[in-house]
Amino acid sequence: MYTMTGTRGYTLETEVQYLKGVGPKLAQVLSKLNIYTLGDLLFHLPRRYEDRRHFRKIAHARPGEAVTVAGKLVTVDNVKVRNNMTLTKAYLDDGSGVLELVWYNQPYMKDTLSKLRNSVIVAYGVVKESPYGLQMETPEWEDLPDGADPDSLLSVNRIVPIYPLTEGIRQKRMRQILYNAVQYAHLAPEILPRSVRERVDLPPIQQALQQIHFPDEENQIEPARRRLVFEEFFLMQLGVGMQRRQNQQERGIAMRIDEQRLNAQLQQLVPFELTNAQKRVIREIWSDMAQPHPMNRLLQGDVGSGKTIVAAAAILAAVDNQYQAAMMAPTEILAEQHYINLHRLFQPLGISVELLVGRLSNKQRQQARERVASGRGMVAVGTHALIQEEVNFARLGLAIVDEQHRFGVLQRAALRDKGLMPHLLVMSATPIPRTLTMTLYGELDVSILDEMPPGRKPVKTHWKTPEERLKVYAGVRKLIEEGRQAYVICPLIDESDKLQVRAAEEMAEHLQKDVFPDLRVGLLHGRMKPAEKEAVMEQFRAGELDILVSTTVIEVGVDVPNAAVIVIEDADRFGLAQLHQLRGRVGRSEHQSFCILIANPKSEDGQRRMEIMARTTNGFLIAEEDLKIRGPGEIFGTKQSGMPSFRVADLVKDMGLLEVARQEAFRVLEQDPDLSKPEHAALRDAVSRFRHRFALATVS
Ligand code: ADP
Ligand code: MG
Repeated sequence: MYTMTGTRGYTLETEVQYLKGVGPKLAQVLSKLNIYTLGDLLFHLPRRYEDRRHFRKIAHARPGEAVTVAGKLVTVDNVKVRNNMTLTKAYLDDGSGVLELVWYNQPYMKDTLSKLRNSVIVAYGVVKESPYGLQMETPEWEDLPDGADPDSLLSVNRIVPIYPLTEGIRQKRMRQILYNAVQYAHLAPEILPRSVRERVDLPPIQQALQQIHFPDEENQIEPARRRLVFEEFFLMQLGVGMQRRQNQQERGIAMRIDEQRLNAQLQQLVPFELTNAQKRVIREIWSDMAQPHPMNRLLQGDVGSGKTIVAAAAILAAVDNQYQAAMMAPTEILAEQHYINLHRLFQPLGISVELLVGRLSNKQRQQARERVASGRGMVAVGTHALIQEEVNFARLGLAIVDEQHRFGVLQRAALRDKGLMPHLLVMSATPIPRTLTMTLYGELDVSILDEMPPGRKPVKTHWKTPEERLKVYAGVRKLIEEGRQAYVICPLIDESDKLQVRAAEEMAEHLQKDVFPDLRVGLLHGRMKPAEKEAVMEQFRAGELDILVSTTVIEVGVDVPNAAVIVIEDADRFGLAQLHQLRGRVGRSEHQSFCILIANPKSEDGQRRMEIMARTTNGFLIAEEDLKIRGPGEIFGTKQSGMPSFRVADLVKDMGLLEVARQEAFRVLEQDPDLSKPEHAALRDAVSRFRHRFALATVS
């Protein structure tokens, strides 16, 4: 335990430059690690620990081992060697033997060490065999001033924390600063209610901070870390819970839902029987829309599970109530596809659908906007063009965001702001693990489409090498002869868009001329004009092309059920989520479909991805693997997707604890919905700081 030596009026907000041993220059260095205050410093946690408690007799040290030794410093000298390199050599004698310590190009070490000649120092490092005996290169070391308590050593004779560093600060210095900071750990308020701490079995905050930095025993580290992780999750979930409550108190549009009539209408419009999952989810959505507060719902369903028709059912209900509906898609190709589908679907009812995308002429755009603004256009489908300032709705009652993960929180909010508290439905095919859903969309209600339309066969996935390409093409030809269509996805090239286009063009040319001269090959890439893209998509949809060579522009949402094979070139260069999305372009009908991954992966990661794809079509499994390989930050970006960046918690490692934190948070809110009880004052402050940090409130 550490004793206090007066607090000097510090608070957690105190800037680091005023702390003992820091100063403005070092503060500058620390700012590169996002450390500005004493509080930040306390949360700069070790990335690992080294157990340096047990001294080893030099005579017993074995080469290759990391050991701590204590001995008398005997000689110190600088030696010049080739290339102008200076070695500082010192010898440590502990009675059992002599160890050579070596530093490279730190000539000043000689002065430092010379002052300590004949006194005892402690050194830690890996022992090596050299021609002159045992040696330790650039050891971590500390001197033991006469009469000093060996317990006061920071870098040796204890479990030593190893911190993340940046240029301008060394491990030993960082450790010293943290040691000083930890003397103020008692300043951190205990925000967790005692009952929660007892149920979850968590140490108090002061103890957790002390032990995570300078653990007394190895087994103190995990509980300390667990406590800090829990606290972060708990604050987040309290924020989420309070947000949900706030949403529920908002006044929205209570729509009149005549389920029977709407169902009958839907049945007439849709050429197939809805799956039970679709029926259930539609009921959930309609029941939300009948509430006097706005719907906030996430619809999750794997690629091909039939989300579009669910969206159509929601639109139908809104229009039935004389409210407009807007549906936003991340790509122009997808927006056009939704437009075509909804237009076809709603035509018999005389419901007009407007398209708002970038490719429209000024006049077309003007007219579409006018129809939307006057309320004659009841349904608007589009890309980002929908949320531009000039777009105004007469009576927007429902906002739908498709492929939600492609949009940020702000765009969601912008679409919603086109109306007065319209109902919001966001749809995502990204099968996010449940814990991540709680993090990213915790303030939303979740509906899951967990059933594929009948007759779907899982896509058969094969991993082939480039040498086997001709065999692959023969297989493609066979399917086309049976009446199916094919996608060929071009390799990803990092260098530039231009090269990417060139590669796609070459691929299309090669396939048309050399491989499939008798078939109809089309080309689609991002640099084409939107109208050209749409024309090619239309041809492919109409079956006028057998093969569509494409870059990843078709990655999300594209639905051509007759396409039964997708060949992905250089497949190992794509991430798992992307491969799963691409594969989702096939397997959208009763025809057996195939996904061929052509790859010769060099990295282990690449191999693992190919194996996972070949092994499973389960989007949730794939997402969890993806999370393990890449981590949540990379998958969801940071700020703009609303993905919180935790200081301590790791969403992959700590998933289990997130569930516990959610339960505990909701339990507290049940008793004290806005944390207004006096014993929750510190907690309420912490939650509001946390929400501020993550801008959780931006959703509504
Ligand atoms: P998602 O957006 O979930 O990936 P879509 O809404 O594009 O999936 O639907 C995929 C395909 O399945 C479309 O061709 C759609 O018409 C079809 N479909 C959807 N629901 C059913 C159903 N209940 N029965 C048969 N086909 C369906
Ligand atoms: Mg879709």
